[in-house]
Amino acid sequence: MSTKVSNGKVIEMSYRLMNAKGEVLDQADSGSPFAYLHGAQQIVPGLESAIEGLSVGDKKNVVVQPEEGYGEVNPALKLVVTRAQFPTGVELKTGMQFEAQGGDGEGLVFMVENIEGDSIHINGNHPLAGETLHFAIEILKVRDATEEEKEHGHAHGGDGHQH
Ligand code: ZN
Repeated sequence: MSTKVSNGKVIEMSYRLMNAKGEVLDQADSGSPFAYLHGAQQIVPGLESAIEGLSVGDKKNVVVQPEEGYGEVNPALKLVVTRAQFPTGVELKTGMQFEAQGGDGEGLVFMVENIEGDSIHINGNHPLAGETLHFAIEILKVRDATEEEKEHGHAHGGDGHQH
């Protein structure tokens, strides 16, 4: 019986995510760990491959470059649109997010970055695009995924997805 992190296992871990400046961007402590299905692209590729083969109790610091993380900043996703392109009655504010279709028809989350009169600057990049990610992780639990989890492609329970 393998208790190592591998495809088809549900992993619970605590983690702290920092940027290159050491600022904490996100974290989950052991009291409410993060759960995910390994091998299902639920986490960034650089972290998933670095965790492969670890066991419960293992701690690791992982540095993930943008290409293995949330990608480089794509200038084509920084757009200037006009107020008229939004539904009437929508109050536009800096920092608000909305979903729209990208060039390939895929749903993308855009954020309003700046409003200059009628010109609305929006950005469809992931907020962590271009960032080198510094993770400090500890593996808390490794178990086999249920058939339902495998079917859904994500973990249930823990701090994961609930139905
Ligand atoms: Zn599900």
